[in-house]
Amino acid sequence: MDYQARLEWLSKKLAEQEADGMIVGGFTSIERSRIPNVEYLCGFTGSEGTVIAGPQGAFLITDGRYTIQAANEVKGAEVRIFETSADRPELLQRSASDAGITRAAFESGIVSVDGLNDLKGYLPEVELVPVKDVVEELRQVKQPEEIELIREAAKMADAAFEWIVGKVEVGKTERDLALDLEMYIRRNGAEAVSFDSIVAAAERSALPHADPTNREVEKGHFLLLDFGCLFKGYCSDLTRTVAVGPVDDRHHQVYEAVLASNEAGIAAVKPGAGGHDVDAAARGVLEEAGFGDAFAHGLGHAVGLEVHESPRLTRGSEDVLIAGNVVTIEPGAYFEGWGGVRIEDLVLVTQNGADVLSSAPKDLIQL
Ligand code: ZN
Ligand code: ZN
Repeated sequence: MDYQARLEWLSKKLAEQEADGMIVGGFTSIERSRIPNVEYLCGFTGSEGTVIAGPQGAFLITDGRYTIQAANEVKGAEVRIFETSADRPELLQRSASDAGITRAAFESGIVSVDGLNDLKGYLPEVELVPVKDVVEELRQVKQPEEIELIREAAKMADAAFEWIVGKVEVGKTERDLALDLEMYIRRNGAEAVSFDSIVAAAERSALPHADPTNREVEKGHFLLLDFGCLFKGYCSDLTRTVAVGPVDDRHHQVYEAVLASNEAGIAAVKPGAGGHDVDAAARGVLEEAGFGDAFAHGLGHAVGLEVHESPRLTRGSEDVLIAGNVVTIEPGAYFEGWGGVRIEDLVLVTQNGADVLSSAPKDLIQL
């Protein structure tokens, strides 16, 4: 990854906000969980770290637990370790000064009121400028090496789907299948699942974000599987819905409508398309089939270091797709007490259209 280039893009973005530097990462325990922006700028994957970047240099500040890890991971920034938290303010101050920062942007959506008060105390000489989603915006356009990692993570999810389909049996619980899935994913090259897997049997497939329970797989119903892999820091996200045993006409009808909606959504993906318009293209198909009310969520989201990123493809979205975005297309139709279908693919926005990264089969699989 070219971290130097990322820091240069950041400084250009900051110039638009009349800031000459940025403090990325937070100071309270809640804020520290927002580590993806830190990782994006310098490669550090520890659970706690702050990037200070300015015209004269960039620094990663973290603590003694990460001395070896930071030395191995961090590129384009100098690592500075504080021994005790009492040393931290002085180190932040010295780093901001060494970086040549006079007006520092900070992440207003992430830094808490307490964090901001601390920051003001740490850096009395520096003017603080609230900015929103600056690093997130850089992260929206994936570079070729990022796309390769997402493509690999998508392939791992495809393979996991193929494998788990062979493990589905009537009487097995959602929990069993979710555990099997996770074990397979971790044994076959992924660091982890990219989010808690959703395995939803029968009427529970009507819950778009169902947590696996002891509900058993049952004949004559759908089974919905939504999961992803984390590979070298990048996420994939895949949903498939299968039929267990023979299912009735209504199951086929709903499935075909969701599949047509998924295909219409993919066909609408191209640079310049609005997130709202892509959602509408897929939603229209379900509305025409009489299932508009059953599609109870947005069409998709971007994926990268995090499983849910911008741009968003939703009814209210004002985002516009650009080449290098990687987004999901995941229409669904859900009926309380009966079940639901979702079909989700990962799609790369290319210069002239879309490249579908998911390749798990989409014709209804009947087990
Ligand atoms: Zn998903
Ligand atoms: Zn998704």
